[in-house]
Amino acid sequence: SNSPVTVLGLGAMGSALATAFLTGGHPTTVWNRTPGKADPLLALGATRADGVAAAVTASDLVVVCLLDHASVHETLGPVAAELSGRTLVNLTNGTPAQARETAGWAAGHGIAYVDGGIMAVPPGIGTDQAFVLYSGAEDAFAAHRPALELLGAAHFAGADAGLAALYDIALLSGMYGMFAGVFHALALVGTEKVPAAEFAPMLTGWIGAMAAGIPHMAAQAESGDYTDGVVSNAAMQAAAFGNLLRTAEDQGVSGELIAPLRPLLDRLVAEGGGAGDVTGVVELLKRPA
Ligand code: NDP
Repeated sequence: SNSPVTVLGLGAMGSALATAFLTGGHPTTVWNRTPGKADPLLALGATRADGVAAAVTASDLVVVCLLDHASVHETLGPVAAELSGRTLVNLTNGTPAQARETAGWAAGHGIAYVDGGIMAVPPGIGTDQAFVLYSGAEDAFAAHRPALELLGAAHFAGADAGLAALYDIALLSGMYGMFAGVFHALALVGTEKVPAAEFAPMLTGWIGAMAAGIPHMAAQAESGDYTDGVVSNAAMQAAAFGNLLRTAEDQGVSGELIAPLRPLLDRLVAEGGGAGDVTGVVELLKRPA
C-alpha cells in the first residue's frame, strides 16, 4: 500500500499538495495553525492531527508549506526530536541561504532534509503544468520520489540544499523581468488606446520568438564569449535604446522599469563589448559596479 504522508500548512498551496497526495492514494495526515482549513481535506479522507508533534510522527515523509522561513522554524523548532530519522521536504518559498540554514539545523537533529521550490500555482498542482525543484538529501528524495511526482514533475537540482531555491528564484527573476517589460509595453500602447485584442497577440508572439534565443544566451553566459554569431550588436542596441526612453517620456509614461538597462548597455559598450551581443550584460551583473 502507499506510504503515509504528512502535510504541515494548509494554505492555498498546502491544501493543493495534500489533495494531490490524497488523490494519489496516500494516507495523508494534515495540520494547520488554524484547524478549520483542514475541513475540506477531511472529506477527501485526510486525517487531522491535533498538534504538530502528532502530525510529524504519523509519517516518514513530512512536507511543510508555510508562509515563509520564519514560520517554518517557529513550527518545526519544538518538534526536532520527533522529526529525527524522518524526511522533511520543505516547499516553503525561501532563499538559498535560508535553505542551507534549515539543512544545517536538520543535520544537527538527524533529519533527512530536502528543500524545494514549487513552479506552479495551486490549481496547477497534480497536473502536467506543474514542476517542482528539489535539492538536498538525494537518497531521501529518491525514496519518496513516487509520492512527490504526484505534485508535478520532479527535478532534483543537487545535493547542496540551496540549489532548488537558487533555480526557483532565478526562474522567478526571469518572470518578473518579463512582467516589467510587459507592464511597460501595455502602459505605452494604452496612451493611444490601442485595443488589447489587437496588441496582446503581437506581444505574446514577439516574446515567444525572443524567448527562443534563451538557449543561445545561456550558452554564451556559460562560456563567457559573447562574440559568436552576432546579428544585433550591442553598440547598435545601446544607440537604439535611447528611443525607448524618449518614447516613454513623449507619451507621458514612467520609464522606471526599463531605465535600469540603459547604464548597463552604455557600460558594456564603454568596456569594449560593443561588437558583441547584449547578453554581455550578464558579465557586468556578475561584478557589480
Ligand atoms: P497562504 O497565505 O494561502 O497560506 C499561508 C500558510 O502559512 C497558512 O497555512 C498559514 O496558517 C501558515 N502560516 C503563516 N504564518 C504561520 C506561522 N507563524 N505559524 C504557522 N503557520 C503559519 O499561502 P500559500 O499556501 O499560497 O503559500 C504557501 C507557500 O507556498 C509560500 O511560501 C509561497 O511562497 C509558496 N508558493 C505559493 C504559490 C502560490 O501560487 N500560491 C506558488 C509557489 C510557491 P493559517 O491558516 O493559520 O494562517
